[in-house]
Amino acid sequence: MSRVSERYSRQILFRGIGSEGQQKLAGARVAIVGCGATGSALAALLARAGVGTLRIIDRDYVETSNLQRQSFFDEKDAAESLPKAIADARKISAFNSHIVVEPRVEDLVPGNIEALLEGMQLILDGTDNFETRYLINDYGVQRSLPWIYCAAVGSYAVTLNVLPGQSACLACIFPDSPRGTVDTCETSGILNSAANLVASIAATEALKYIVGNPIRQTLLSFDLWSNEHAEISAAKPRHGCRACGERDFIHLAGEGRPQITLCGRNSVQIHERHRPIDFGEMDQRLQPHGIVRHNEFVLKFWHEPYEMTLFPDGRAIIKGTTDTAVARSLYARYVGS
Ligand SMILES: [Zn+2]
Repeated sequence: MSRVSERYSRQILFRGIGSEGQQKLAGARVAIVGCGATGSALAALLARAGVGTLRIIDRDYVETSNLQRQSFFDEKDAAESLPKAIADARKISAFNSHIVVEPRVEDLVPGNIEALLEGMQLILDGTDNFETRYLINDYGVQRSLPWIYCAAVGSYAVTLNVLPGQSACLACIFPDSPRGTVDTCETSGILNSAANLVASIAATEALKYIVGNPIRQTLLSFDLWSNEHAEISAAKPRHGCRACGERDFIHLAGEGRPQITLCGRNSVQIHERHRPIDFGEMDQRLQPHGIVRHNEFVLKFWHEPYEMTLFPDGRAIIKGTTDTAVARSLYARYVGS
């Protein structure tokens, strides 16, 4: 038995996979958008299962408050403010060096979605917001690229497989963003087991899809605290759906979103392009104004009561405010307008 088949022997023994399925997994290319609790769990499961190429896209860095549920990360990652995509890639290389992991420290937006998802055969949702999910949905429907919606909040987990041209898309089920009317991790907290459950279901659906097995065509939800669960058929697209019916891809067209308030934290993201930052130079420039620290991935600047995290491409996350005007002016003052 070769070393590769030895590694995956228990999975090859499983009738649904077999050695033929294992080979398909080795040739598979899967993107995971967002690597918080759900995304990290997805990455861990698929990397261990032997999915050949995983592209992990995340805009954020590891913090102590992540450690309760984001199983991949440790205290050292938080102390270093390591970008989550980089931390994930490092962890994976320690337990499976036979697969390719492509970390991308970027915010998925209309302007870069094509470059970030190019060459992928399946997209998995590890995000925490509907804005990005609708963007993925528009892209997937337009390109006939399947994707799997995943969400976990409180003790509740919900997931949907979107097979463009066959089953319902996200906009069929949720025509408008439920933003403002639904619970978020910030208001309701989250159990780590809810994120792990949704990741387990979605990772299994991903394996089934890759090996050519039919996949579930329902919106499936499960409340781990009450044990209530529900399944709604998603086998047919909704007549008149904006995305898959009328093919009106408003989220893909939505250029120019320079500021975003992040979910679950008292912070604002400033998304700038074409502003590569020289961390050494910036460190010098900011020294007189507060505490500065940087590594090769992020630069952190503390200026009471704010904390700014800068990425090499000019993107920044400013903590200590939810006012985009305040964040914008801090950025203009210290980084440039
Ligand atoms: Zn639809």
